[in-house]
Amino acid sequence: MAHLKWMRVCGCVVARYAEYMSLRSLLPVFSGSLILTAAAIAAQTAASPSHANLLRGNYSELRANNDLLSYDLRVRVDPAKQFISGENTIRFRMLRDGTRIQLDLSETLKVEKILLGRTELKYERDSGAVFVDFPKALKQGKTYSVEFFYSGYPKEIGRFGGLTFKKDPAGRDWITTSCEDDGASVWWPNKDQWRDEVESMRLRVAVPNGLMDVSNGRFSGKRDLGDGYTEWAWKVHYPINNYDVALNIADYTHFSDKLGKLTLDYYVLPENLEKAKAQFAQVKPMLQAYQHYFGEYPFIKDGYKLVEVPYLGMEHQSAVAYGNKYENGYLGRDWAGVGISKKFDFIIIHESGHEWFGNAVTAADMSDMWIHEGWTTYMEGLYVEYLYGKPDAIKYLNGLKSHLKNDRPIVVSDADGKTIHGTNQQPTQDQYFKGALMINTLRSVVDDDAKWFDLIRGFYQDFKYKNILTEDVVSYFNARTGMDLTPIFDQYLRHVAIPMLELKFEPGLVSYRWKADVKAFAMPLKVGDPTKWETIHPTEEWQAMKTSLGKEEFKVATDLYYVKVEKE
Ligand SMILES: [Zn+2]
Repeated sequence: MAHLKWMRVCGCVVARYAEYMSLRSLLPVFSGSLILTAAAIAAQTAASPSHANLLRGNYSELRANNDLLSYDLRVRVDPAKQFISGENTIRFRMLRDGTRIQLDLSETLKVEKILLGRTELKYERDSGAVFVDFPKALKQGKTYSVEFFYSGYPKEIGRFGGLTFKKDPAGRDWITTSCEDDGASVWWPNKDQWRDEVESMRLRVAVPNGLMDVSNGRFSGKRDLGDGYTEWAWKVHYPINNYDVALNIADYTHFSDKLGKLTLDYYVLPENLEKAKAQFAQVKPMLQAYQHYFGEYPFIKDGYKLVEVPYLGMEHQSAVAYGNKYENGYLGRDWAGVGISKKFDFIIIHESGHEWFGNAVTAADMSDMWIHEGWTTYMEGLYVEYLYGKPDAIKYLNGLKSHLKNDRPIVVSDADGKTIHGTNQQPTQDQYFKGALMINTLRSVVDDDAKWFDLIRGFYQDFKYKNILTEDVVSYFNARTGMDLTPIFDQYLRHVAIPMLELKFEPGLVSYRWKADVKAFAMPLKVGDPTKWETIHPTEEWQAMKTSLGKEEFKVATDLYYVKVEKE
């Protein structure tokens, strides 16, 4: 599949649409009927991670010995030289006594010095890791601050560039960041992992006069530095992922609005002001939909912002990056292919959904990133349901099946279905679509919409501002439903194949059973006549039911349950 070029939607790979559609017919179709052998799965999942990825991904003792409290990042950006310099004051509490911690900064950037008070600290660099040594042991329970000074010429990396020095169409500087896959340490020093977040953060960004910096959080003032630069200050009042921290530097025009007490601020290129005012009218109903299902926007003190960028989009917390060209759909195209996508702007609806799942509820390891992407894709369906009704939502979510590759489990797993944490390895793009279709399946398993909406709201509310793993999701749903949903989660998340319902017909009778990788797989589903579905409870053992329907007339509700059906 090396001939396919992949693109990232927000952090994850989504096939470059046109190429994907044209190449699909040439690819083997892994439709779920094809169960890959264990060896084939192992070959696809266990590619040994690089030393650099292990250093980045592993939550080592040198990370686990401390708990982040805050960052105070100051950066000066010189567009003419394409050079940055600055410092990050990193405050943390020691969880155990220790003389060394791991921080991270891309090898392409220079460590100027690292201070603890007035003491200059020794450090050792190994690819992107910076191991900082303290002359005396830091004590468990005590809080410390190190000031990390750095500078350099950031190298463009990843599809959205990490930190890029671009020009807008009128030739003015346009400098933005986007670094989910490569990590925030591509442009600033931090503890670059997913498990631990600061509780709050300050950003002060100096840019040449005439440009503006829009970062995360609440704007707290600007200051003319008297040397041709102006410093723009922002304060983040909540926990934040490293990769969400963003610079957006341009000659932006600003307009604003409110939804209740929530401030809405929009920063766009001056030429696009009128288009933006029309397109961003979608923001309020989108926020209303998500607040309806999950509760209040998670970052009220920081406000909601949309910021125009030269790439497609990214869920930068409280400052969502927007680059969908003021068109509906996905760059103007019908994303789900069923006539619904063009009713809304994919980037506004998807990236903003991440404020709830990704930014407020966060995966503790990249292996479990479906918690961001599966849930946010499901939220697209909820947005459709809120505005256009459930039938359209079900149609939309099922339309996304066209994007499925069924190549690897959506949680990074070994051949036995055991999660591989700590390798900085991004899951397959199926985490979006299969994730959403699994959640839609769970809704049908619960089979009580009032209960379902209560459950997902509770799920969000229980885990907001926390970093969690798949096990936490499964425990929550098991406890709150009183059902054993573990086999269902395991089959969809940790295996390539989806459950297959085998049906055998005899006159007046149909026999059924599940075929799945997970032992003792069981899941109820609806079958028979679509105008009056009957719920059956198949297991891996054959059972039978009476039916007057023949093989052709006997249906399975495959729009409500993402399953494969085989009729004999
Ligand atoms: Zn996303």
